Amino acid sequence: MNSDAKIPFLDLVTPHHELEEDLVAVFRQALKTAGFIGGPMVQGFEEDFAGFCGTRHCVGVGSGTDALRFALLAAGVGSGDTVLTVPNTFIATTEAVSQAGAVFDFVDIDESTYNMSPEQLREYLETKCDTDPRTGIPVSRRTGRPVKAVVPVHLYGQTADMDAILDVADRFRLIVVEDACQAHGAEYFSRKRNAWCRAGSMGAAAAFSFYPGKNLGACGEAGAVTTDDDGIAAKIRMIRDHGQARKYHHDVEGYNGRLDAIQAGILRVKLRSVDRGNGMRREIAARYNRLLSASNGLIAPIEPSWSRAVYHLYVVRTRFRDDVLKYLSENGIVCGLHYPVPLHLQKAYAGIGYREGDFPVSEKVAKEILSLPMYPTLQAEQQARVIDGIKTFFSDH
Ligand SMILES: *Cc1c(COP(=O)(O)O)cnc(C)c1O
Repeated sequence: MNSDAKIPFLDLVTPHHELEEDLVAVFRQALKTAGFIGGPMVQGFEEDFAGFCGTRHCVGVGSGTDALRFALLAAGVGSGDTVLTVPNTFIATTEAVSQAGAVFDFVDIDESTYNMSPEQLREYLETKCDTDPRTGIPVSRRTGRPVKAVVPVHLYGQTADMDAILDVADRFRLIVVEDACQAHGAEYFSRKRNAWCRAGSMGAAAAFSFYPGKNLGACGEAGAVTTDDDGIAAKIRMIRDHGQARKYHHDVEGYNGRLDAIQAGILRVKLRSVDRGNGMRREIAARYNRLLSASNGLIAPIEPSWSRAVYHLYVVRTRFRDDVLKYLSENGIVCGLHYPVPLHLQKAYAGIGYREGDFPVSEKVAKEILSLPMYPTLQAEQQARVIDGIKTFFSDH
């Protein structure tokens, strides 16, 4: 196979070429007005992004991790609470729970979508909890604390099965906070609402990251919470700004977690092309699906009928993952692993006492997943080379 130029995993340079004038204009505007923190650029972006997600509110914050932490705090999660999430996610999901003062615990994922299994969630609540006779709230036997919230992660740009998760959450009176950090514009068909709903519009609140590599990325750090709840939105506006609703009058202790005005202005410019970029990602995914289906031993991503994924990552699975990764890398094709070690087996969480075998689906998947190059500017010739590389690998082995 020919290996001319390297095929990068991500392209964060060319998308900014056609936007350069508009992006520089944002910086000039900030310099002219000295509007670096808050102000009309932040407000304007918040309005636009709430519109994009179909929510009443959007509150800009410093990062996706801030967004998760503030959403949990504002929704009422705190010390003494248990929050359930999945082992197959980025560590920011559990960091936010711990930093909100709560403890996390895990439920395993669905093997076909890699997202939280609603059955595992139900099973956890039914078989691994006792019901507090006074409050009727499930208390985790493992953590010894009441289960207050659940954080489904819309991993790789595909929403979790939200109707099913919301049903279980309703039954056990859990707060649902979506980790939508990889799912800007992803859609879920809710049979309950009989409508397509965007990621970030289904839980009590949702967290987005605008880290540069995300489907909507800033030119630095940024994040946002979306919600329909006036109270949650108001609380996050305080929490992100040292707990003050009025300058130097602090109702609670908060954080320095504001969204930078320049980043907000940049995001406002880039938001205009997110739907187009997502459409291109879907086309690239469809081409991968079509042309890779002939490769035995390779599992392409599965998109259930209720999902319109936005392919933040295009993740395939194979038993020969490490060999394929090595072969592609030798041929100038850069791939990624999201994520190689499930959270319950991370060194940082060794003290929690989970062992290999505790979350079998997450563990199996972690050994087999491979993220192929995926971005709107991925050229057809580049994609053809990735596909050729994979086909050659499988015909040679
Ligand atoms: C990127 C990401 C985050 C954290 O976002 P930051 O902006 O880097 O803080 C959280 N959860 C998931 C699933 C992510 O992919």
